Amino acid sequence: MPAQGMPSSDDIITGRQKELKAGGPDPEKEDRVMLLRQRVSRIYYLNKFFDYPISLKPQTFINMGFARTVKSGFSYLHSCAVKREENSLEDFYINRFGKTLYSMFFEGYTEKLWGRHPSQISADWGAQRVKGLSIAAVIKDVVSKIVPQKSREVETSLIEQFVYPKFGPGQLWETAAAEFEKLGGKIIKNCKVEKTVVKDGSVKDYICSLNGETVSFDGDIFFSSMPVKDLVEGTDGVPDNIKEIASGLPYRDFVTVGLLVDKLKIKNETKIPTVSDIVPDCWIYVQDTGVKLGRIQIFNNWSPYLVKDPVNTVWIGLEYFCNEGDTFWNMDEKECVDYAVDELKKMGIIDGNTVVSDYHREKVKKAYPAYFDTYKDIDKVVKYLDGFENLYCIGRNGQHRYNNMDHSMVTAFEAVNNIISGKKTKENIWNVNTEAQYHEDNK
Ligand SMILES: Cc1cc2nc3c(=O)[nH]c(=O)nc-3n(C[C@H](O)[C@H](O)[C@H](O)COP(=O)(O)OP(=O)(O)OC[C@H]3O[C@@H](n4cnc5c(N)ncnc54)[C@H](O)[C@@H]3O)c2cc1C
Repeated sequence: MPAQGMPSSDDIITGRQKELKAGGPDPEKEDRVMLLRQRVSRIYYLNKFFDYPISLKPQTFINMGFARTVKSGFSYLHSCAVKREENSLEDFYINRFGKTLYSMFFEGYTEKLWGRHPSQISADWGAQRVKGLSIAAVIKDVVSKIVPQKSREVETSLIEQFVYPKFGPGQLWETAAAEFEKLGGKIIKNCKVEKTVVKDGSVKDYICSLNGETVSFDGDIFFSSMPVKDLVEGTDGVPDNIKEIASGLPYRDFVTVGLLVDKLKIKNETKIPTVSDIVPDCWIYVQDTGVKLGRIQIFNNWSPYLVKDPVNTVWIGLEYFCNEGDTFWNMDEKECVDYAVDELKKMGIIDGNTVVSDYHREKVKKAYPAYFDTYKDIDKVVKYLDGFENLYCIGRNGQHRYNNMDHSMVTAFEAVNNIISGKKTKENIWNVNTEAQYHEDNK
């Protein structure tokens, strides 16, 4: 018999059966590693929830109110008739959504995320991250749902289901590392590359610090997924103009605060069944500029296996974008947690009766490679680094590209294919995730 206040195994099974209806974990198959999850993410704005990406449901217009809806409609029509030259992210968004929707849903959030106004950010960011999303794409998606087709193409940003490891993305890398070691590979952890030694136009050694000692690794082929800025800084004989561009590459840093709470004040008003009927969102985007908070994750909805007691508790992750060394970054853990709790109360996500039984704060340096300042000249750095035939820059910070995990992996696959096939150019490696639009099958 469970202790008072603790869930019985029946409660958990009931919760999981509810989840199953939503395409979640199957209690009969607890040992499977990958779960099929539903992608539910919404925007929190004007103290209301909007679909993310924006949908054309009546609720969207009810939330916006008559006056805003009409204004948005006219501003969208204007953006269709008068296209701006796309010199910045602001131009990119206004061309696709109109000025009013841009001001409501993109302007403030982008500024929170990057610490820069969208007019100061390159349009490249939109092309890679927002893919083909626009009002026109949203309308096309709605129509294609009404008119069934044999094989429906869905814009990348609108995909609604995804496969997720039971214990989170780290499980993928633990599994990959174990496989690599099984095949005879050796992984050395906590080993920082400090210098890249070059000779006769090739990389010869990585000089690293390992547990306070300096060690050197020579090799025939070198990969680098460390930030481009750090790679260039630690490389011998780099010309001054290349050093200057690389040292000016900007990053946005990230602080996340995890809170274990007994309940949320916001209620599940959707028809999507969830364990204990919590809101179904994986992410809630916080457009509201009255709080610093950028995004909330609900870990129960990524995978209930991430939470010890998914019936009676909710692990939420609050995401803050900041710069290393700024006031927010320098807060001590408790101060930061109190700040986060206050913001959640202000937004009505939790209230004074919510019990916070555990917390954790994590800081991530250089979480987001940014597209401003010397980024416009990055091609010169790429050309310089490509001059080292046996050096392959891969991954997210390794290419200073806003790559997701899949793109980061593909850069490595491309590099290995080039080595195997003897291909000399590295263009295909740098070209991963640069197309302005692409489509994926919604399987
Ligand atoms: C908050 C956040 C949320 C994200 N969410 C998603 C998501 O939902 N889906 C998705 O697909 N992607 C997501 N991503 C992106 C994803 O995490 C990255 O695309 C991916 O981790 C990049 O892989 P990587 O190997 O290039 O770099 P990393 O995973 O950053 O690995 C680089 C490694 O190199 C190490 N390193 C750095 N410098 C040195 C050095 N000098 N010497 C030795 N080692 C060094 C670092 O410590 C790090 O371990 C997210 C990223 C962030 C920050």
